[in-house]
Amino acid sequence: MTDVAVTFTKERHIKYFLRCLKTFLPSLYTSNDSNRMLLAFFTVAGLDLLGVLQSKTTLEERQGYIEWIYHCQVPTGGFRAFTGTDFGAENRTPENEAWDPANVPSTFFALELLLILGDDLSRVKRIECLQWLPQMQRSNGSFGEVLGPGGKIEGGGDLRFCCFAAGTRYILRGNGGKDVDDIKDINVDKLAAFVQACQAYDGGMGEAPFCEAHSGHTYCAMGALSFLNRMAKNQQPPSVLSPGAREFESLVCWLVSRQTAELGETEEDSDDESSPEADEVQRLPKAAEELGSNEDPDNLPVIRPPTGASLRYAGFNGRCNKYADTCYSFWNLATLDMMDRLDLVDATRNRQYLLGKTQHIIGGFGKGAGEPPDLLHSYFGMVALAFQGEEGLSSVDPALCISHRAVQHLQSLPWWTEGA
Ligand SMILES: [Zn+2]
Repeated sequence: MTDVAVTFTKERHIKYFLRCLKTFLPSLYTSNDSNRMLLAFFTVAGLDLLGVLQSKTTLEERQGYIEWIYHCQVPTGGFRAFTGTDFGAENRTPENEAWDPANVPSTFFALELLLILGDDLSRVKRIECLQWLPQMQRSNGSFGEVLGPGGKIEGGGDLRFCCFAAGTRYILRGNGGKDVDDIKDINVDKLAAFVQACQAYDGGMGEAPFCEAHSGHTYCAMGALSFLNRMAKNQQPPSVLSPGAREFESLVCWLVSRQTAELGETEEDSDDESSPEADEVQRLPKAAEELGSNEDPDNLPVIRPPTGASLRYAGFNGRCNKYADTCYSFWNLATLDMMDRLDLVDATRNRQYLLGKTQHIIGGFGKGAGEPPDLLHSYFGMVALAFQGEEGLSSVDPALCISHRAVQHLQSLPWWTEGA
């Protein structure tokens, strides 16, 4: 079975991200207004990945984006996710500041955005932010999202917040230095123990201990441990980052098993109707739906083995028995990249899936076959392709999820070059 020719339509993706940056987003994004920092991240990082951020935006525009990000910094350290809660520094008091809190994920994305835009982070309240982080850690080692009234840790508790807290610490502590050595650090051992306790019986990570394994949380778990490990000089990496260890190998097995040719397509989405082989495959899920527990086993439909046509496109799912979804090509491949096991998946079939099924005709990527593009799936679709060396895309650091170009800029900052 020969592959159907697919191309990465770079120019259309550039237009898609520029439209998202410079015109209004579709109204469906309205409910995401409070996540504006994240939307900004996907947009600007997308153009950086395509290598056109400098050429397609002016210096003034980029400076404007930087000013907006700093406008989202709260006076006590950390960043808010959007400007909607900002009631002005002159009205802010210790009693009311909990209603305009810094937010753990937004702080991470704000710092990354500043790095991508070439800012030197000199206006970041670095000390204040590093003092705020330990206040966000719960006694079980996990992190919340914001500090509520009375300093109560609110929101989160799952691996996403562990990852963003560890990532923020990584960016702002770097190689340490006199100015931060005296600042109380987060409890690294407790965080690492919490993350490792989230590994499920099948090797993947759940959102909390004893939960079902999920690729998104698995990525966050390994991201958090990678950030901690990169900063832990001369220390043994945790077993889940140690090749040969049961924890490591079972996770690799689980991640690789997420690749699937079950795309969840409707008949109209599929361009393979003409092939009787593919037709047979399309009918299988329906046949499976009709199965009842009282059926005579002799009357059950024959489930045929996969064919060349049915395996032509193979994306990734995030949990057992789910359909492929563009973003899971990212969550799984990024984790495998952190574990240096990217070569174990079928890169060709994944590329066929992303470029042949979820890449949209107007640019960007949708969640599944035939779906409209959105910022999250568009960025993650491109990053997944970048891991596989797609021409026209910059290489990406899997834990920071930004181009190596932006990572180099981070590593040129004073607390990275002057530290121990
Ligand atoms: Zn998705």
